[in-house]
Amino acid sequence: MTNTEESWVKHYLPDALLPRIEAELLTRPAYHSPIATISDIRQNGLLEAWSVTAFSCIRNFADYLDSPIYFVISHAPIPSAMICKFDDFQCIVITACLSENMTRLAANLLAEGNIFEFLLKSVEPSEPTGIAQKARKEAVYNCARQNMAISTEIWNVAHLLTNYSSYFIIAHEISHILLGHFDSHNAMSMVEFEVHDVPPTLLSRSNEWQADSFAAIATLFRLNALLEMEAEPNADWLQDPNARVRLIAVLGYLIFTSMDFLDNNDGDYSLRTHPSPMSRAGLMMATLSISAHHLLGVDTSCTHKICQSAFKAVEVALLNIAGGALSEDEVLKYGNEAQTSLDHFFIYLQFDKANRDYSRLSNISWKYLIPGVA
Ligand SMILES: [Zn+2]
Repeated sequence: MTNTEESWVKHYLPDALLPRIEAELLTRPAYHSPIATISDIRQNGLLEAWSVTAFSCIRNFADYLDSPIYFVISHAPIPSAMICKFDDFQCIVITACLSENMTRLAANLLAEGNIFEFLLKSVEPSEPTGIAQKARKEAVYNCARQNMAISTEIWNVAHLLTNYSSYFIIAHEISHILLGHFDSHNAMSMVEFEVHDVPPTLLSRSNEWQADSFAAIATLFRLNALLEMEAEPNADWLQDPNARVRLIAVLGYLIFTSMDFLDNNDGDYSLRTHPSPMSRAGLMMATLSISAHHLLGVDTSCTHKICQSAFKAVEVALLNIAGGALSEDEVLKYGNEAQTSLDHFFIYLQFDKANRDYSRLSNISWKYLIPGVA
């Protein structure tokens, strides 16, 4: 056993606590699937990589939590994540297919060329060569299941994207506890795809936006730290601060894309627990631009421009290789939803910040995320 394996095993949910998580999962029909055992994970390189990343993220934030934190990998056939909070411990549940979908989706889209050239060489994405033949969600679903031939160079970048996406997703889950979101409603668990068993409120959507924002900055911190320690191989191109913003923008957009096909975006905005995935990408851009300015010295308008190019590179790749695109109506709808949400969230924060305890977050630079919350 290597040291790294030994470490992640320490944060894997102990057998004695499994029945308590299983009881909670029974309330979520989509999660009625077996939990991966430690030996299952050891036999699957992708799941082991997920576990090592989960460990590194948990280790970075564990000191800020009042009780132990664990993770488990579920075989539920939905790309999703959730967090369960109990009086004496907390546990992140992630699904194996989230990691598998993300890696395959990233590799296939990178092989198309536009995202790869944009990420590594800052080449602006080209205009699409085809026309849309199917809905975007269907294209995303197909793209995550195609077995295209992938070069080693592309796999390396796909794994890099998956690795930091995993960190982003775990940080998002931990932040629901760190940011006090469980104190604001009675649920014991929060899931990351649309469900209607939590009262859908502005508060819940605002919490998701805060968690996405936290995750983006946490991932940027992680990336900076590894580069500083020269612990990120195969990534000379990330020495450029703008390249780091490109990486976060692309991986954020891919995360929301990989969760998008499950989500009913046609539902009424006011009845949703989460902003719709594609508008979450736009919302993330707002806070990423603030944090990239503080952490990397990248100008706010430059980050906006990078995010727009990143989103376009993914859309062009999706259209070129899988024949699916957002319709003009969808683009308008998600753009409007992001703008409306942002307006609501900032108003909400003005009321909220007086009532929440952000003190333990001062050391992890929550202050960089939201203007006025220090
Ligand atoms: Zn969440």
